Amino acid sequence: MKRYQTYIDGKWTDAASGKVFETSDPYTGEPWALVPECDARDAELACNAAARAFESGPWPAMTATARGRLLRKMGDLIAKHAKHLAEIEVRDNGKLISEMYAQTQYLPEWYYYYGGLADKITGQTIPVDKPDHFCYTLKEPVGPCVFITPWNSPLMLVGWKLAPALAAGCTVVIKPSEFTSASLLEFMKLVVEEAGVPPGVINVVTGFGAVVGEPLVTHPKIAKVAFTGGTATGARVNELAARTFKKVSLELGGKSPNIMFDDCILDEAVNGAISGIFAATGQTCIAGSRLLVQESIHDKFVEKLVEVAASAKLGNPQLFETQVGPVTTPPQYQKILGYIDIAKGEGAKCVLGGGPATAAEGGGKYFVKPTIFTGVNNKMRIAQEEVFGPVLSVIKFKDEAEAIQIANDIAYGLGSGVWTQSVRRATMMAQKIKAGTVWVNTYRAVSFTMPFGGYKASGLGRENGAEAIEGYLQTKSVWINNAVGGGGNPFVMKTASNS
Ligand code: NDP
Repeated sequence: MKRYQTYIDGKWTDAASGKVFETSDPYTGEPWALVPECDARDAELACNAAARAFESGPWPAMTATARGRLLRKMGDLIAKHAKHLAEIEVRDNGKLISEMYAQTQYLPEWYYYYGGLADKITGQTIPVDKPDHFCYTLKEPVGPCVFITPWNSPLMLVGWKLAPALAAGCTVVIKPSEFTSASLLEFMKLVVEEAGVPPGVINVVTGFGAVVGEPLVTHPKIAKVAFTGGTATGARVNELAARTFKKVSLELGGKSPNIMFDDCILDEAVNGAISGIFAATGQTCIAGSRLLVQESIHDKFVEKLVEVAASAKLGNPQLFETQVGPVTTPPQYQKILGYIDIAKGEGAKCVLGGGPATAAEGGGKYFVKPTIFTGVNNKMRIAQEEVFGPVLSVIKFKDEAEAIQIANDIAYGLGSGVWTQSVRRATMMAQKIKAGTVWVNTYRAVSFTMPFGGYKASGLGRENGAEAIEGYLQTKSVWINNAVGGGGNPFVMKTASNS
Protein backbone atom coordinates (compact mmCIF):
# COMPACT_ATOMS: atom_id res chain seq x y z
CA MET A 1 0.00 0.00 0.00
CA LYS A 2 1.30 3.45 -0.86
CA ARG A 3 2.24 5.56 2.17
CA TYR A 4 2.07 9.34 1.85
CA GLN A 5 3.74 12.01 3.92
CA THR A 6 2.37 15.49 4.32
CA TYR A 7 4.12 18.72 3.29
CA ILE A 8 4.90 21.47 5.80
CA ASP A 9 7.45 24.28 5.40
CA GLY A 10 8.86 22.76 2.22
CA LYS A 11 9.55 19.37 3.84
CA TRP A 12 7.87 15.98 3.58
CA THR A 13 6.92 14.78 7.01
CA ASP A 14 4.86 12.24 8.99
CA ALA A 15 2.15 13.41 11.38
CA ALA A 16 3.42 14.46 14.81
CA SER A 17 1.44 11.53 16.25
CA GLY A 18 3.11 9.12 13.82
CA LYS A 19 -0.40 7.87 13.02
CA VAL A 20 -1.81 7.21 9.56
CA PHE A 21 -5.27 6.43 8.22
CA GLU A 22 -6.42 4.49 5.19
CA THR A 23 -7.84 6.00 2.05
CA SER A 24 -10.06 3.68 0.01
CA ASP A 25 -11.23 3.20 -3.56
CA PRO A 26 -15.04 3.60 -3.50
CA TYR A 27 -15.43 1.29 -6.51
CA THR A 28 -13.65 -1.70 -4.97
CA GLY A 29 -14.11 -0.65 -1.35
CA GLU A 30 -10.43 -1.54 -0.84
CA PRO A 31 -7.92 0.71 0.93
CA TRP A 32 -5.03 1.65 -1.36
CA ALA A 33 -2.96 4.26 0.50
CA LEU A 34 -2.04 5.50 3.97
CA VAL A 35 -2.24 9.19 4.82
CA PRO A 36 -0.78 11.02 7.87
CA GLU A 37 -3.33 11.62 10.61
CA CYS A 38 -2.36 15.15 11.62
CA ASP A 39 -3.56 16.89 14.76
CA ALA A 40 -3.24 20.28 16.45
CA ARG A 41 0.57 19.97 16.64
CA ASP A 42 0.88 19.69 12.86
CA ALA A 43 -1.64 22.52 12.43
CA GLU A 44 0.56 24.69 14.65
CA LEU A 45 3.68 23.91 12.59
CA ALA A 46 1.91 24.55 9.31
CA CYS A 47 0.32 27.86 10.40
CA ASN A 48 3.65 29.09 11.78
CA ALA A 49 5.38 28.11 8.53
CA ALA A 50 2.76 29.98 6.49
CA ALA A 51 3.08 33.02 8.76
CA ARG A 52 6.91 33.03 8.50
CA ALA A 53 6.83 32.65 4.74
CA PHE A 54 4.36 35.52 4.53
CA GLU A 55 6.53 37.88 6.59
CA SER A 56 10.06 37.10 5.46
CA GLY A 57 12.18 35.18 2.96
CA PRO A 58 11.77 34.91 -0.79
CA TRP A 59 7.95 35.15 -1.02
CA PRO A 60 7.29 38.74 0.12
CA ALA A 61 10.41 39.83 -1.78
CA MET A 62 9.11 38.40 -5.04
CA THR A 63 7.59 40.85 -7.51
CA ALA A 64 4.00 40.37 -8.57
CA THR A 65 5.26 39.64 -12.09
CA ALA A 66 7.45 36.84 -10.76
CA ARG A 67 4.51 35.43 -8.79
CA GLY A 68 2.49 35.44 -11.99
CA ARG A 69 5.27 33.58 -13.79
CA LEU A 70 5.34 30.98 -11.00
CA LEU A 71 1.58 30.48 -11.26
CA ARG A 72 1.86 29.94 -15.00
CA LYS A 73 4.59 27.37 -14.41
CA MET A 74 2.28 25.57 -11.98
CA GLY A 75 -0.39 25.59 -14.69
CA ASP A 76 2.02 23.97 -17.15
CA LEU A 77 2.93 21.27 -14.62
CA ILE A 78 -0.72 20.50 -13.89
CA ALA A 79 -1.29 20.13 -17.63
CA LYS A 80 1.69 17.76 -17.84
CA HIS A 81 0.37 15.53 -15.03
CA ALA A 82 -3.37 15.95 -15.68
CA LYS A 83 -4.05 12.28 -16.45
CA HIS A 84 -2.16 10.98 -13.43
CA LEU A 85 -3.83 13.47 -11.06
CA ALA A 86 -7.27 12.59 -12.45
CA GLU A 87 -6.69 8.87 -11.99
CA ILE A 88 -5.69 9.42 -8.36
CA GLU A 89 -8.85 11.46 -7.78
CA VAL A 90 -11.06 8.76 -9.28
CA ARG A 91 -9.37 6.21 -7.06
CA ASP A 92 -10.22 8.31 -4.02
CA ASN A 93 -13.67 9.69 -4.81
CA GLY A 94 -15.05 7.27 -7.39
CA LYS A 95 -16.23 10.01 -9.73
CA LEU A 96 -15.99 9.38 -13.45
CA ILE A 97 -12.58 9.57 -15.10
CA SER A 98 -14.28 11.49 -17.94
CA GLU A 99 -15.29 14.20 -15.44
CA MET A 100 -12.13 14.25 -13.30
CA TYR A 101 -9.81 14.24 -16.33
CA ALA A 102 -11.83 17.07 -17.89
CA GLN A 103 -11.34 18.97 -14.62
CA THR A 104 -7.58 18.43 -14.35
CA GLN A 105 -7.14 19.34 -18.03
CA TYR A 106 -9.10 22.56 -17.48
CA LEU A 107 -7.48 23.41 -14.13
CA PRO A 108 -4.30 25.02 -15.57
CA GLU A 109 -6.50 27.86 -16.85
CA TRP A 110 -7.04 29.05 -13.26
CA TYR A 111 -3.28 29.31 -12.74
CA TYR A 112 -2.79 31.07 -16.09
CA TYR A 113 -5.67 33.49 -15.50
CA TYR A 114 -4.69 34.51 -11.96
CA GLY A 115 -1.03 34.42 -12.95
CA GLY A 116 -1.93 37.05 -15.54
CA LEU A 117 -3.79 39.12 -12.94
CA ALA A 118 -1.00 39.05 -10.33
CA ASP A 119 0.70 42.22 -11.58
CA LYS A 120 -2.56 43.97 -12.43
CA ILE A 121 -3.66 44.37 -8.82
CA THR A 122 -3.73 48.10 -8.27
CA GLY A 123 -4.94 50.62 -5.74
CA GLN A 124 -6.27 54.05 -6.67
CA THR A 125 -5.30 57.66 -6.24
CA ILE A 126 -8.20 59.36 -4.45
CA PRO A 127 -9.07 63.04 -4.90
CA VAL A 128 -9.80 63.75 -1.21
CA ASP A 129 -11.74 66.80 -0.09
CA LYS A 130 -8.73 68.49 1.52
CA PRO A 131 -6.21 70.80 -0.06
CA ASP A 132 -2.54 69.88 -0.33
CA HIS A 133 -3.04 66.17 0.19
CA PHE A 134 -1.92 63.32 -1.99
CA CYS A 135 -3.94 60.22 -1.11
CA TYR A 136 -3.90 56.74 -2.49
CA THR A 137 -4.85 53.17 -1.64
CA LEU A 138 -2.68 50.08 -1.68
CA LYS A 139 -4.03 46.58 -2.20
CA GLU A 140 -2.16 44.20 0.10
CA PRO A 141 -2.49 40.44 0.65
CA VAL A 142 -4.67 39.60 3.68
CA GLY A 143 -2.03 37.26 5.09
CA PRO A 144 -1.72 33.53 5.74
CA CYS A 145 -4.89 31.67 4.73
CA VAL A 146 -6.43 28.31 5.57
CA PHE A 147 -8.34 26.34 2.93
CA ILE A 148 -10.66 23.52 3.93
CA THR A 149 -11.99 21.51 1.02
CA PRO A 150 -14.41 18.61 0.31
CA TRP A 151 -14.03 15.32 -1.52
CA ASN A 152 -16.10 15.83 -4.62
CA SER A 153 -13.70 17.88 -6.79
CA PRO A 154 -10.53 17.97 -4.70
CA LEU A 155 -7.94 19.75 -6.87
CA MET A 156 -10.44 21.91 -8.70
CA LEU A 157 -11.81 23.38 -5.48
CA VAL A 158 -8.29 23.91 -4.11
CA GLY A 159 -7.37 25.68 -7.38
CA TRP A 160 -10.32 28.08 -7.13
CA LYS A 161 -8.79 29.32 -3.88
CA LEU A 162 -5.07 28.77 -4.35
CA ALA A 163 -4.58 30.53 -7.67
CA PRO A 164 -6.13 33.89 -6.59
CA ALA A 165 -4.54 33.65 -3.13
CA LEU A 166 -1.03 33.20 -4.56
CA ALA A 167 -1.62 35.92 -7.13
CA ALA A 168 -2.54 38.25 -4.27
CA GLY A 169 0.64 37.32 -2.37
CA CYS A 170 -0.89 35.20 0.41
CA THR A 171 0.54 32.02 1.89
CA VAL A 172 -1.66 29.02 2.69
CA VAL A 173 -2.33 25.90 4.71
CA ILE A 174 -4.64 23.41 3.02
CA LYS A 175 -6.68 20.72 4.73
CA PRO A 176 -8.20 18.38 2.16
CA SER A 177 -11.08 16.02 2.93
CA GLU A 178 -10.06 12.90 4.82
CA PHE A 179 -11.48 10.90 1.89
CA THR A 180 -9.41 12.56 -0.85
CA SER A 181 -6.00 13.66 0.39
CA ALA A 182 -3.89 11.80 -2.15
CA SER A 183 -4.30 14.00 -5.22
CA LEU A 184 -3.30 17.10 -3.26
CA LEU A 185 -0.18 15.36 -1.92
CA GLU A 186 0.73 14.31 -5.48
CA PHE A 187 0.09 17.89 -6.59
CA MET A 188 2.50 19.15 -3.90
CA LYS A 189 5.23 16.89 -5.29
CA LEU A 190 4.60 17.17 -9.03
CA VAL A 191 3.51 20.80 -9.22
CA VAL A 192 4.39 22.85 -6.13
CA GLU A 193 7.87 21.45 -5.48
CA GLU A 194 8.68 21.12 -9.15
CA ALA A 195 7.66 24.71 -9.89
CA GLY A 196 9.94 25.94 -7.09
CA VAL A 197 7.33 27.51 -4.80
CA PRO A 198 9.33 28.71 -1.76
CA PRO A 199 9.05 26.71 1.50
CA GLY A 200 6.13 27.61 3.74
CA VAL A 201 4.10 29.27 1.00
CA ILE A 202 1.84 26.22 0.50
CA ASN A 203 1.50 23.71 3.35
CA VAL A 204 -0.77 20.70 3.70
CA VAL A 205 -2.15 19.03 6.81
CA THR A 206 -4.16 15.86 6.28
CA GLY A 207 -6.57 14.39 8.78
CA PHE A 208 -10.02 14.78 10.28
CA GLY A 209 -12.02 17.98 10.31
CA ALA A 210 -12.74 18.28 14.01
CA VAL A 211 -9.19 17.27 15.01
CA VAL A 212 -7.02 19.26 12.61
CA GLY A 213 -9.50 21.56 10.86
CA GLU A 214 -10.57 23.40 14.00
CA PRO A 215 -7.05 24.25 15.22
CA LEU A 216 -6.38 25.70 11.77
CA VAL A 217 -9.55 27.79 11.76
CA THR A 218 -8.83 29.20 15.23
CA HIS A 219 -5.09 29.76 14.79
CA PRO A 220 -4.20 33.37 15.70
CA LYS A 221 -1.74 33.82 12.82
CA ILE A 222 -4.31 32.94 10.16
CA ALA A 223 -6.02 35.93 8.53
CA LYS A 224 -8.56 34.24 6.27
CA VAL A 225 -10.41 30.94 5.99
CA ALA A 226 -11.78 29.77 2.64
CA PHE A 227 -14.08 26.80 3.12
CA THR A 228 -15.99 24.55 0.72
CA GLY A 229 -18.24 21.88 2.18
CA GLY A 230 -21.56 21.25 3.84
CA THR A 231 -23.68 24.04 5.26
CA ALA A 232 -23.60 22.77 8.87
CA THR A 233 -19.78 22.51 8.82
CA GLY A 234 -19.60 25.93 7.17
CA ALA A 235 -21.63 27.46 9.99
CA ARG A 236 -19.28 25.91 12.56
CA VAL A 237 -16.20 27.16 10.69
CA ASN A 238 -17.72 30.64 10.40
CA GLU A 239 -18.45 30.79 14.13
CA LEU A 240 -14.96 29.63 15.09
CA ALA A 241 -13.25 32.02 12.68
CA ALA A 242 -15.32 34.96 13.91
CA ARG A 243 -13.76 34.69 17.37
CA THR A 244 -10.45 35.97 16.00
CA PHE A 245 -12.04 38.22 13.34
CA LYS A 246 -10.78 36.26 10.38
CA LYS A 247 -12.09 36.97 6.93
CA VAL A 248 -14.19 34.03 5.76
CA SER A 249 -15.47 32.81 2.42
CA LEU A 250 -17.86 29.87 2.31
CA GLU A 251 -18.97 27.74 -0.63
CA LEU A 252 -21.71 25.53 0.79
CA GLY A 253 -24.54 23.24 -0.20
CA GLY A 254 -27.45 23.65 -2.54
CA LYS A 255 -30.84 22.35 -3.62
CA SER A 256 -30.90 23.98 -6.99
CA PRO A 257 -34.04 24.36 -9.12
CA ASN A 258 -33.72 23.32 -12.77
CA ILE A 259 -36.83 24.81 -14.42
CA MET A 260 -38.39 23.39 -17.59
CA PHE A 261 -40.86 25.69 -19.36
CA ASP A 262 -43.31 24.50 -21.99
CA ASP A 263 -41.36 26.30 -24.75
CA CYS A 264 -38.07 24.48 -24.06
CA ILE A 265 -36.44 22.28 -26.69
CA LEU A 266 -37.45 19.02 -25.09
CA ASP A 267 -34.50 16.78 -25.95
CA GLU A 268 -31.97 19.41 -24.92
CA ALA A 269 -33.83 20.17 -21.72
CA VAL A 270 -34.03 16.48 -20.81
CA ASN A 271 -30.27 16.19 -21.29
CA GLY A 272 -29.86 19.31 -19.14
CA ALA A 273 -31.95 17.73 -16.41
CA ILE A 274 -29.91 14.51 -16.57
CA SER A 275 -26.54 16.26 -16.47
CA GLY A 276 -27.83 18.41 -13.63
CA ILE A 277 -28.44 15.45 -11.36
CA PHE A 278 -26.89 12.19 -12.54
CA ALA A 279 -23.49 13.51 -13.63
CA ALA A 280 -21.05 13.04 -10.75
CA THR A 281 -23.63 10.66 -9.21
CA GLY A 282 -25.38 13.77 -7.94
CA GLN A 283 -22.43 14.55 -5.68
CA THR A 284 -22.08 18.14 -6.68
CA CYS A 285 -23.08 21.26 -4.81
CA ILE A 286 -24.79 22.64 -7.91
CA ALA A 287 -26.84 19.50 -8.61
CA GLY A 288 -30.16 20.47 -10.18
CA SER A 289 -31.89 18.24 -7.66
CA ARG A 290 -35.29 19.99 -7.85
CA LEU A 291 -36.67 19.61 -11.36
CA LEU A 292 -39.52 22.06 -11.86
CA VAL A 293 -41.61 21.06 -14.90
CA GLN A 294 -44.49 23.10 -16.31
CA GLU A 295 -47.68 21.06 -16.01
CA SER A 296 -48.56 21.29 -19.72
CA ILE A 297 -45.43 19.28 -20.65
CA HIS A 298 -45.00 17.33 -17.39
CA ASP A 299 -46.03 13.84 -18.51
CA LYS A 300 -44.23 13.96 -21.86
CA PHE A 301 -41.10 15.37 -20.17
CA VAL A 302 -41.03 12.74 -17.42
CA GLU A 303 -41.52 9.94 -19.93
CA LYS A 304 -38.48 11.06 -21.94
CA LEU A 305 -36.46 11.76 -18.79
CA VAL A 306 -37.03 8.28 -17.42
CA GLU A 307 -36.17 6.74 -20.79
CA VAL A 308 -32.80 8.56 -20.99
CA ALA A 309 -31.93 8.12 -17.30
CA ALA A 310 -32.73 4.40 -17.47
CA SER A 311 -30.15 4.00 -20.24
CA ALA A 312 -27.29 5.22 -17.99
CA LYS A 313 -24.34 2.84 -17.98
CA LEU A 314 -23.24 2.16 -14.41
CA GLY A 315 -19.80 0.76 -13.75
CA ASN A 316 -16.11 1.26 -13.12
CA PRO A 317 -15.45 5.01 -12.89
CA GLN A 318 -11.93 4.55 -14.32
CA LEU A 319 -13.48 3.64 -17.72
CA PHE A 320 -14.33 6.50 -20.03
CA GLU A 321 -17.59 4.86 -21.20
CA THR A 322 -19.08 4.69 -17.68
CA GLN A 323 -21.86 7.23 -17.10
CA VAL A 324 -22.71 6.75 -13.42
CA GLY A 325 -20.18 5.67 -10.81
CA PRO A 326 -20.32 4.76 -7.14
CA VAL A 327 -21.07 7.03 -4.22
CA THR A 328 -17.84 8.31 -2.66
CA THR A 329 -18.18 7.41 1.00
CA PRO A 330 -20.05 4.76 3.00
CA PRO A 331 -21.82 7.39 5.19
CA GLN A 332 -22.89 9.23 2.03
CA TYR A 333 -24.27 5.97 0.59
CA GLN A 334 -26.35 5.37 3.73
CA LYS A 335 -27.54 8.98 3.71
CA ILE A 336 -28.77 8.71 0.10
CA LEU A 337 -30.64 5.47 0.77
CA GLY A 338 -32.13 7.12 3.86
CA TYR A 339 -33.46 10.00 1.75
CA ILE A 340 -34.98 7.56 -0.74
CA ASP A 341 -36.94 6.02 2.15
CA ILE A 342 -37.92 9.48 3.38
CA ALA A 343 -39.25 10.41 -0.07
CA LYS A 344 -41.27 7.19 -0.30
CA GLY A 345 -42.61 7.79 3.21
CA GLU A 346 -43.65 11.32 2.25
CA GLY A 347 -45.74 9.94 -0.60
CA ALA A 348 -43.52 10.84 -3.57
CA LYS A 349 -43.85 8.40 -6.48
CA CYS A 350 -40.66 6.58 -7.46
CA VAL A 351 -40.69 6.28 -11.27
CA LEU A 352 -37.08 5.13 -11.67
CA GLY A 353 -34.47 3.44 -9.48
CA GLY A 354 -35.12 3.80 -5.79
CA GLY A 355 -32.39 1.69 -4.22
CA PRO A 356 -28.91 0.14 -4.49
CA ALA A 357 -27.65 -1.01 -7.90
CA THR A 358 -26.42 -4.59 -7.86
CA ALA A 359 -23.35 -5.93 -9.65
CA ALA A 360 -25.64 -7.46 -12.29
CA GLU A 361 -26.94 -3.96 -13.00
CA GLY A 362 -23.40 -2.60 -13.41
CA GLY A 363 -23.29 -1.46 -9.81
CA GLY A 364 -21.52 -2.86 -6.78
CA LYS A 365 -20.65 -1.94 -3.27
CA TYR A 366 -21.70 1.73 -3.01
CA PHE A 367 -23.90 2.18 -6.05
CA VAL A 368 -27.32 3.84 -6.00
CA LYS A 369 -29.54 3.57 -9.08
CA PRO A 370 -30.39 6.83 -10.79
CA THR A 371 -33.62 7.64 -8.98
CA ILE A 372 -36.52 9.88 -9.99
CA PHE A 373 -39.46 10.88 -7.80
CA THR A 374 -42.54 12.56 -9.25
CA GLY A 375 -45.45 14.06 -7.35
CA VAL A 376 -43.03 15.91 -5.09
CA ASN A 377 -44.29 19.01 -3.39
CA ASN A 378 -41.82 21.69 -2.40
CA LYS A 379 -42.59 21.37 1.31
CA MET A 380 -41.36 17.76 1.47
CA ARG A 381 -37.94 17.03 2.96
CA ILE A 382 -36.89 15.43 -0.34
CA ALA A 383 -37.46 18.87 -1.92
CA GLN A 384 -35.85 20.95 0.82
CA GLU A 385 -32.78 19.00 1.98
CA GLU A 386 -29.55 18.32 0.12
CA VAL A 387 -29.22 14.60 -0.70
CA PHE A 388 -25.89 14.80 -2.54
CA GLY A 389 -26.70 11.73 -4.60
CA PRO A 390 -28.43 10.61 -7.83
CA VAL A 391 -31.93 11.40 -6.61
CA LEU A 392 -34.16 13.79 -8.56
CA SER A 393 -37.37 15.37 -7.23
CA VAL A 394 -39.83 16.41 -9.95
CA ILE A 395 -42.16 19.25 -8.96
CA LYS A 396 -45.02 20.46 -11.18
CA PHE A 397 -45.75 24.17 -11.67
CA LYS A 398 -48.47 26.11 -13.47
CA ASP A 399 -46.93 29.36 -14.63
CA GLU A 400 -43.93 31.69 -14.29
CA ALA A 401 -45.12 33.15 -11.00
CA GLU A 402 -45.42 29.72 -9.43
CA ALA A 403 -42.04 28.62 -10.83
CA ILE A 404 -40.39 31.65 -9.20
CA GLN A 405 -42.18 31.08 -5.91
CA ILE A 406 -41.13 27.41 -5.75
CA ALA A 407 -37.59 28.11 -6.95
CA ASN A 408 -37.01 30.65 -4.18
CA ASP A 409 -38.85 28.83 -1.40
CA ILE A 410 -35.70 27.17 -0.06
CA ALA A 411 -32.90 27.95 2.39
CA TYR A 412 -30.26 27.59 -0.34
CA GLY A 413 -29.33 29.73 -3.35
CA LEU A 414 -26.40 28.27 -5.26
CA GLY A 415 -27.31 27.27 -8.84
CA SER A 416 -30.43 27.30 -11.00
CA GLY A 417 -31.42 26.42 -14.55
CA VAL A 418 -34.04 27.85 -16.88
CA TRP A 419 -34.99 26.12 -20.14
CA THR A 420 -37.00 28.26 -22.54
CA GLN A 421 -36.74 29.79 -26.01
CA SER A 422 -38.18 33.12 -24.89
CA VAL A 423 -35.65 35.90 -24.26
CA ARG A 424 -38.21 37.77 -22.18
CA ARG A 425 -38.82 34.74 -19.98
CA ALA A 426 -35.10 33.91 -19.66
CA THR A 427 -34.04 37.41 -18.64
CA MET A 428 -37.00 37.86 -16.32
CA MET A 429 -36.28 34.55 -14.57
CA ALA A 430 -32.58 35.41 -14.31
CA GLN A 431 -33.59 38.55 -12.42
CA LYS A 432 -36.12 36.89 -10.12
CA ILE A 433 -34.28 33.74 -9.04
CA LYS A 434 -32.35 34.15 -5.78
CA ALA A 435 -29.21 32.18 -6.57
CA GLY A 436 -25.55 32.90 -7.28
CA THR A 437 -25.77 31.38 -10.77
CA VAL A 438 -28.57 31.15 -13.33
CA TRP A 439 -27.90 28.96 -16.35
CA VAL A 440 -30.21 29.41 -19.32
CA ASN A 441 -30.45 26.46 -21.74
CA THR A 442 -27.34 24.95 -20.17
CA TYR A 443 -26.38 23.58 -16.76
CA ARG A 444 -23.26 23.00 -14.63
CA ALA A 445 -21.03 25.24 -16.74
CA VAL A 446 -18.17 26.87 -14.82
CA SER A 447 -15.25 29.04 -15.86
CA PHE A 448 -12.24 30.71 -14.27
CA THR A 449 -13.61 33.98 -15.66
CA MET A 450 -17.12 33.80 -14.12
CA PRO A 451 -17.78 34.52 -10.43
CA PHE A 452 -19.23 31.56 -8.54
CA GLY A 453 -20.87 31.45 -5.13
CA GLY A 454 -24.05 31.27 -3.15
CA TYR A 455 -26.95 33.36 -1.97
CA LYS A 456 -28.54 32.63 1.41
CA ALA A 457 -27.32 29.42 3.12
CA SER A 458 -25.21 28.50 0.09
CA GLY A 459 -22.34 30.70 1.13
CA LEU A 460 -20.45 33.94 1.49
CA GLY A 461 -18.13 35.55 -1.04
CA ARG A 462 -17.31 34.62 -4.60
CA GLU A 463 -14.70 32.38 -6.20
CA ASN A 464 -13.53 32.64 -9.83
CA GLY A 465 -13.34 35.70 -12.03
CA ALA A 466 -11.38 38.85 -11.27
CA GLU A 467 -13.67 39.45 -8.29
CA ALA A 468 -12.27 36.43 -6.41
CA ILE A 469 -8.88 38.07 -5.96
CA GLU A 470 -10.51 40.75 -3.78
CA GLY A 471 -11.19 38.06 -1.20
CA TYR A 472 -7.44 37.71 -0.67
CA LEU A 473 -6.67 41.43 -0.52
CA GLN A 474 -7.15 44.23 1.95
CA THR A 475 -7.07 47.96 1.31
CA LYS A 476 -4.63 50.34 2.95
CA SER A 477 -5.28 54.10 2.76
CA VAL A 478 -2.23 56.35 2.56
CA TRP A 479 -2.56 60.07 3.37
CA ILE A 480 0.26 62.44 2.49
CA ASN A 481 0.01 66.04 3.55
CA ASN A 482 2.36 67.96 1.27
CA ALA A 483 1.54 71.43 2.60
CA VAL A 484 4.24 73.28 4.52
CA GLY A 485 3.23 74.48 8.00
CA GLY A 486 -0.31 74.83 9.33
CA GLY A 487 -2.12 71.69 10.31
CA GLY A 488 -4.94 73.29 12.29
CA ASN A 489 -5.97 72.46 15.85
CA PRO A 490 -4.10 69.29 16.88
CA PHE A 491 -6.85 68.40 19.40
CA VAL A 492 -9.63 68.22 16.80
CA MET A 493 -10.21 65.64 14.08
CA LYS A 494 -9.49 66.93 10.59
CA THR A 495 -12.78 67.50 8.80
CA ALA A 496 -13.79 69.53 5.79
CA SER A 497 -13.97 72.76 7.78
CA ASN A 498 -10.58 72.69 9.49
CA SER A 499 -8.20 70.73 7.25
P1 NDP B 1 -18.07 18.52 4.90
O1 NDP B 1 -18.66 19.78 5.34
O2 NDP B 1 -18.36 17.28 5.68
O3 NDP B 1 -16.48 18.61 4.86
C1 NDP B 1 -15.81 19.63 4.17
C2 NDP B 1 -14.45 19.80 4.78
O4 NDP B 1 -14.60 20.31 6.11
C3 NDP B 1 -13.68 18.49 4.92
O5 NDP B 1 -12.31 18.75 4.66
C4 NDP B 1 -13.89 18.15 6.37
O6 NDP B 1 -12.89 17.35 6.92
C5 NDP B 1 -13.84 19.52 7.00
N1 NDP B 1 -14.43 19.59 8.34
C6 NDP B 1 -15.37 18.78 8.89
N2 NDP B 1 -15.66 19.20 10.15
C7 NDP B 1 -14.87 20.28 10.40
C8 NDP B 1 -14.70 21.14 11.53
N3 NDP B 1 -15.40 20.98 12.65
N4 NDP B 1 -13.80 22.14 11.43
C9 NDP B 1 -13.09 22.33 10.30
N5 NDP B 1 -13.20 21.53 9.21
C10 NDP B 1 -14.10 20.52 9.25
O7 NDP B 1 -18.47 18.35 3.38
P2 NDP B 1 -18.17 17.12 2.43
O8 NDP B 1 -16.71 16.86 2.34
O9 NDP B 1 -19.06 16.02 2.85
O10 NDP B 1 -18.61 17.72 1.02
C11 NDP B 1 -19.92 17.78 0.64
C12 NDP B 1 -20.53 19.15 0.86
O11 NDP B 1 -19.77 20.15 0.21
C13 NDP B 1 -21.91 19.26 0.26
O12 NDP B 1 -22.82 19.85 1.15
C14 NDP B 1 -21.73 20.16 -0.94
O13 NDP B 1 -22.87 20.85 -1.33
C15 NDP B 1 -20.62 21.04 -0.51
N6 NDP B 1 -19.90 21.58 -1.67
C16 NDP B 1 -20.05 22.89 -1.98
C17 NDP B 1 -19.45 23.42 -3.11
C18 NDP B 1 -19.59 24.88 -3.44
O14 NDP B 1 -18.76 25.37 -4.17
N7 NDP B 1 -20.59 25.59 -2.94
C19 NDP B 1 -18.65 22.59 -4.00
C20 NDP B 1 -18.54 21.23 -3.56
C21 NDP B 1 -19.15 20.76 -2.43
P3 NDP B 1 -12.99 15.74 6.92
O15 NDP B 1 -13.85 15.33 5.79
O16 NDP B 1 -11.60 15.36 6.73
O17 NDP B 1 -13.52 15.39 8.26
